Amino acid sequence: MESVNFIEDIINEELAEGKVTTVHTRFPPEPNGYLHIGHAKSLCLNFGTAEKYGGMCNLFFDDTNPSKEKTEYVEAIKADIEWLGFKWYEVHYASDFFDVIYEKAVKLIKDGKAFVCDLSAEEISATRGTLTEPGKESPYRNRTVEENLALFEGMKEGKYSDGEKVLRAKIDMASPNINMRDPVIYRVLRATHHRTGDKWCIYPMYDFAHPICDSCQGVTHSLCTLEFEDHRPLYNWVVENTGVEHKPRQIEFARLNITNTVMSKRYLKKLVEEKFVNGWDDPRMPTLTGLRNRGVPAQSLKNFCEAIGISKANSEIEIGYFEHFIRDYLNIHAERAMAVEKPLKVVITDFSGSEEEDFDVNPNDETAGTRKITMSKELYIEEDDFSLDPPPKYYRLKKDGYVRLKNAYIIKCDEVVFGENGEIKELRCSHVPSSRSGNDTSGIKVKGVIHWVNAATCVDAEIRKYDYLLKDAQYPGQDFSERMNTNSVHVFYGKAEPYLAGAKDGSSFQLMRKGYYKKVNDNGRLILSEIVSLKDTFNVKK
Ligand code: ATP
Ligand code: MG
Repeated sequence: MESVNFIEDIINEELAEGKVTTVHTRFPPEPNGYLHIGHAKSLCLNFGTAEKYGGMCNLFFDDTNPSKEKTEYVEAIKADIEWLGFKWYEVHYASDFFDVIYEKAVKLIKDGKAFVCDLSAEEISATRGTLTEPGKESPYRNRTVEENLALFEGMKEGKYSDGEKVLRAKIDMASPNINMRDPVIYRVLRATHHRTGDKWCIYPMYDFAHPICDSCQGVTHSLCTLEFEDHRPLYNWVVENTGVEHKPRQIEFARLNITNTVMSKRYLKKLVEEKFVNGWDDPRMPTLTGLRNRGVPAQSLKNFCEAIGISKANSEIEIGYFEHFIRDYLNIHAERAMAVEKPLKVVITDFSGSEEEDFDVNPNDETAGTRKITMSKELYIEEDDFSLDPPPKYYRLKKDGYVRLKNAYIIKCDEVVFGENGEIKELRCSHVPSSRSGNDTSGIKVKGVIHWVNAATCVDAEIRKYDYLLKDAQYPGQDFSERMNTNSVHVFYGKAEPYLAGAKDGSSFQLMRKGYYKKVNDNGRLILSEIVSLKDTFNVKK
């Protein structure tokens, strides 16, 4: 199999050496929030690698921290994965393995490799040492096996209060790797678990539970992000010392970071709770449910993940690069249509009745064909497509100037009619009958083409446009509240072709010269919600 990243290099080598025969991965979210674009990278990697090698990928809910986890999140995560089109082999929860994990802890105690410690969390962290100094051994480190077994049993039976005692692995307080300095592997915690209820009052720590769960599932490659690199020795220690039959391997890769957005569940949750946004699925959110609601095609997200690839070095991706893939996809798949956000009335004084024009449904899709649009004496154009005081090289409409109406005629502005307050009320124009699109014999050369809608048939449309959630591009360090863009939704009450009112709810369109929009039917009210603008800020280097 040709390799496209270092993980596949490793797998190819192992397959060649016969170390593995089937590739089995897992996607391991903690059900404490909704998935975001970063998770998409992990999803594409885990599901994609399994698929490429004809193996399996499990969905594994890492629910070892009951105070933050909810069934609502479990369901949302499943829906997001299905949206991306991935099919998991089996679903497992860390909590399904609580009994096995407990037994493994007991085995460590029996083997003299774990002990119950009475130090408080503060004391443990104060005696852990530093990068340059070793830690201090706990005074409880040399308890007998019998004493440890009895105390651990007591922890499980609820004899101790939260934080009163912990179980620690007995490894090496002088290890250069701080994670190996007698790490806590079980704690007392009274919290109702979303699946096991109140059955347990002790919960295993992630570093202890994860390798055991991987092993129980038959996972061969446990792919995780770089911050777990320092945890790998502990992962391997657990695998080697708990007597698990099947031995998985942890491999780390770089997280995805994107400019102008926040990408950690903790921060995203804050945005929702503090009402910066209207929920996890707000179209400005980088969550998968937000992207789906925005109208971003799942395939464009997968294409993006494939393009950024997998590496061992953390980096930050420009949001424009992601948008490039959305445009790229919709350019081929979205029908064209016309709508104006700030309507300016145009009366074509020398036009009568109604005429039908052929409108190219999608010039990039040969099979898409055409549909009819109608034109009549009164139209709306975009307010910004007319200028009373045009700068040089202004190719849109100006007094006594010509412009082409998309798929229709060239018109000339003869007169500007002002309202009582000096505002432009309407433009009175004439058309060039011989300039009809597709059959233009007028000989008039115009550089500007503008979009329009027929005033006689158009419908009201609410047009929503979005800015980024963060004002500046830099990926946030800690505090983002001062960097929030508090004005990131712009609503316009415009006019749209009647075709859009009849289109399928949720379908996407390229509104000519504006961008890609999703049609939303809000109780019969037409809303056109921006997916991405047309302006490509990203120069794809070929
Ligand atoms: P957060 O910090 O947002 O809570 P997390 O890493 O705690 O993220 P998990 O639910 O534990 O979220 O993540 C599930 C999987 O997705 C993990 O393997 C994790 O490494 C991966 N993942 C999370 N965020 C990213 C990201 N930005 N880029 C790549 N992979 C990610
Ligand atoms: Mg996490």
